[in-house]
Amino acid sequence: MLDRHATLTVGEPRTPYQLTTTGQLWLEVLVDRPYPRDSQEDQQILTYSVPSDLTVEIGDILSVPFGSQVIGGIALRFLENLPAGLEESQIRPVEDVIAQGFFPDNYWQLLTKIAQYYATDLITVVRVALPPGLLRSSQRRIRLKPEAIPPGAEVFCTPFSRQILSLLKNQKEGDYSAKYLQEKVKNANYGIRDLVKRGWVESYLEAPKSPNIKLKKAITLLITDFPTDLTENQRKIVEILRHQGGEMWLPELAQLAGTKHFKPLIDKGYVVIEDREFLRLSSAIMSRDQPKTLTSSQKQALEAIQTLKGGESTLLHGVTGSGKTEVYLQAIAPILAAGKSALVLVPEIGLTPQLTDRFVARFGDRVYVYHSALSEGERYDTWRQMLTGTPQVIIGTRSAIFAPLPHLGMIILDEEHDSSFKQSQLLPTYHARTVAKWRSQLNHCPVILGSATPSLETWLESQANPPLYLSLPDRIQNRPLPQVEIVDMRRELQRGNRSLFSQSLRSALETLRDKGEQAILFVSRRGHSTFVSCRSCGYVLECPHCDVSLSYHHTEPGAQELLRCHYCNYGRIHPKQCPECGSPYLKFFGTGTQRVTQELSKEFPDLRCLRFDSDTTRNKNAPRELLKLFTDGEFDVLVGTQMLTKGLDIDRVTLVGVMAADGLLYHSDYRASERAFQTLTQVAGRAGRGDTEGKVIIQTYTPEHPVIRAVQTHDYEGFVETELMQREGLNYPPYGSLVLIRFSGLDGEAVQKSAENVAEECVNNFGSDWDILGPAPATIMRVANRYRWQILLKLSGEKADIGRLFLPLKSLVLPKVSMAIDVDPLTIE
Ligand code: ADP
Ligand code: ZN
Ligand code: ZN
Repeated sequence: MLDRHATLTVGEPRTPYQLTTTGQLWLEVLVDRPYPRDSQEDQQILTYSVPSDLTVEIGDILSVPFGSQVIGGIALRFLENLPAGLEESQIRPVEDVIAQGFFPDNYWQLLTKIAQYYATDLITVVRVALPPGLLRSSQRRIRLKPEAIPPGAEVFCTPFSRQILSLLKNQKEGDYSAKYLQEKVKNANYGIRDLVKRGWVESYLEAPKSPNIKLKKAITLLITDFPTDLTENQRKIVEILRHQGGEMWLPELAQLAGTKHFKPLIDKGYVVIEDREFLRLSSAIMSRDQPKTLTSSQKQALEAIQTLKGGESTLLHGVTGSGKTEVYLQAIAPILAAGKSALVLVPEIGLTPQLTDRFVARFGDRVYVYHSALSEGERYDTWRQMLTGTPQVIIGTRSAIFAPLPHLGMIILDEEHDSSFKQSQLLPTYHARTVAKWRSQLNHCPVILGSATPSLETWLESQANPPLYLSLPDRIQNRPLPQVEIVDMRRELQRGNRSLFSQSLRSALETLRDKGEQAILFVSRRGHSTFVSCRSCGYVLECPHCDVSLSYHHTEPGAQELLRCHYCNYGRIHPKQCPECGSPYLKFFGTGTQRVTQELSKEFPDLRCLRFDSDTTRNKNAPRELLKLFTDGEFDVLVGTQMLTKGLDIDRVTLVGVMAADGLLYHSDYRASERAFQTLTQVAGRAGRGDTEGKVIIQTYTPEHPVIRAVQTHDYEGFVETELMQREGLNYPPYGSLVLIRFSGLDGEAVQKSAENVAEECVNNFGSDWDILGPAPATIMRVANRYRWQILLKLSGEKADIGRLFLPLKSLVLPKVSMAIDVDPLTIE
């Protein structure tokens, strides 16, 4: 992402879209039209005309005719000409404007800006921004404004209007749903429109219902002493409850007390069990956390943040455990107090529980989570809730950047370097950091980018403007950074150690339990083993549909052994013999979390290990539950992938082992080193966050690699300096800009031909400004039977309007081949 582009003024985008009506225009309306069952999409753009007596603005919620119904829609943009294939006689007029100002200020400018920069249609952006079914559940209501009606004026109204007025006057609140009025009064819509124009009634969308609250059983202690009639078991329950502050979630108490038999206590009136709202209780129970006295560097950072101007973004650079989150919390408090809201973006759902807990502990029920793992209903409810404009904190992943907070006071991206902030596979290929900057300029609020290992883009930008660089150089309480030991696995092999665990890691694991400490083992891949190859002939089992090796999956002893493709999910039974030469020596290569967990239990039967990766955490609540088991000390070792590199703050973790760092170092991508450095540093940062000093052991076959060296010495600046020099030399971001054009289709030749056509046109049109690399087949040329080709474009200067430049190229693409444009791609594979 090229941040210097993001600093362009976006207040008045050079938009071809007009924002209000002038004369006869056609209007594109996003309607909530149920599609046929087999289609995923439930929203659609239709064209309407605007009656001359109606003023429509972009973003207004409209009612429009559809078949014999009247349905809801959002005014998207005005067209000067009818789209091809449509006759004027087919076009029906918009019925009415239901609500204006439904979306926050400049919201549609933001979406339009994204569509232009990332070269897609507005509707594609709308689909990621708005929750599905937003319009379906919206209800229009009509409310009387009695003070606006001149006495006796009613006699001049149409009979329809008069009927409506009298209905409304007879209702206590003067308020009915439009649907009800339509049922009661013939031609109610004419009447409503007439009354709205006179200003005697107002039309609005029904205020959001309270969000679909998650209820959970909680148990509360009602007594302060120990009555004499308690059995030993009941006494134990009361003791636990007292110890926990008198209130607990029922399942947690049941687990701690080892019983579910609470009825006698309820019958005696000593405890009650009731349904409680999930977030509310946690805040009550978690003894409302108070702001901490800041260290001097935290204080400096906070003061600098408070003087930031709207639209400015700052880097908060602090090693893990340096107190960034505390700074966020104290930066947000005055925002809420001023009646505004804050948006906090985090990379992954697996990590939000802990962070969310800390926000809830500080701000209670003003904290909401919003991410794509919520159900459609939950997303919708949270959305409607945000629109109310009450001061709140939204914590969410990438797409939460679209949260419709009307009074946005601050945007925070935690772990801003994380690649999950960029949508890479689906359109639009937006980066939440870039969008955050545009949004902050449109809404005049600051952005805070927090990281221990900032992206090179953010680093370079903050170096150019020193007041925007804030640093927390030390860990809280001057806890030392963990000591990092590098183990050369080649030497281990020479010494005859064939185990996955080096001598050093082994002895650290052996003493773990005695010391009452915990460990995290990091594996850079998921699955049991990454690939299966024949020891006799070297044959590698591959997916028949994708050019990748199959991965070995083994669930439990005795179960069917399976091979699976991680790209298309093709699966087959593991063959007994090599399909090529018949040899029985097919072996697994590489190590996944599953294999590490199995080897651990074999070599250290005393250690209780827990696997944490995308296989075991697929369920929405699973990460939270698994992590809780670990923090509660139910397990000694957590074995996991990238998911556990972030945000975990567990006091008793003193040992972090990286199983084979090499899997991270070698990739065909120009960002591989940056990513490897970030990941390894983040993993290392999980060690020694409590009182005991931490230790990190990195196992590798290439200890001399510069990334490994930089991680060992915690030398971010040294690493960045070398890396930036290389990027500048090759004109890669953050110096040059990249655009990747991807082609895919079932017919390999058609895909290749399309890529060649487009590449040739690129050379002709802008070959003088851009470096055009390719067309070339993607690193993995075939995925799920689709062939993939790509063109990479590199530009030294400012990027012009990508959409206008590249979209016309679509006409050169052959039928059944799809072309997608990835602006500022993060991975080129
Ligand atoms: P980061 O977000 O940079 O990893 P945190 O904000 O999580 O750091 O801080 C690390 C630990 O130090 C947390 O347990 C936090 O509660 C504690 N902490 C943060 N700031 C202070 C402070 N000023 N005084 C005491 N403890 C603090
Ligand atoms: Zn073989
Ligand atoms: Zn496959």
